[in-house]
Amino acid sequence: MSNLEDLYREIILDHYRSPRNRGELAVPPATRVEGFNPLCGDEITLYVELEDGIVANVKMMGHGCSISQASASMMGSAVKGKSVEQVREQIRTFKQLMTVHESTLEHDGEPAKVDLRALGELAALQGVVKFPVRIKCAALAWNTLSQGLDELA
Ligand code: ZN
Repeated sequence: MSNLEDLYREIILDHYRSPRNRGELAVPPATRVEGFNPLCGDEITLYVELEDGIVANVKMMGHGCSISQASASMMGSAVKGKSVEQVREQIRTFKQLMTVHESTLEHDGEPAKVDLRALGELAALQGVVKFPVRIKCAALAWNTLSQGLDELA
């Protein structure tokens, strides 16, 4: 288990140090949404561009702790090229991951109800659930994206 935790920490640090999808998009056609986590001071400005119901492009600016920035970076890569419905499903899955407590973990340490394979690198954030204060950090980008999709709908 500690090897896995090391790997997860490495993935998070890699995304924090080299964030993907940094930048801005022209509005319109993109939508701009801002998110703020006052508990930690994390900020994100997200640009989402849809094309025929597909997330054609995602860019973001922001700053904050390693968890918030790594989560945003991973999210951008995970949702690009996906349909709005698929992205909403990813948001649901991620929120599930953030609410899985250890009591619901199976013997092998995998969350019982969450399909981690569907999350790819985002599974690296599952350790965050042990630190309730950080859940809002990890969820910031996803809540902001969810808001953006609502505005585009
Ligand atoms: Zn934070």
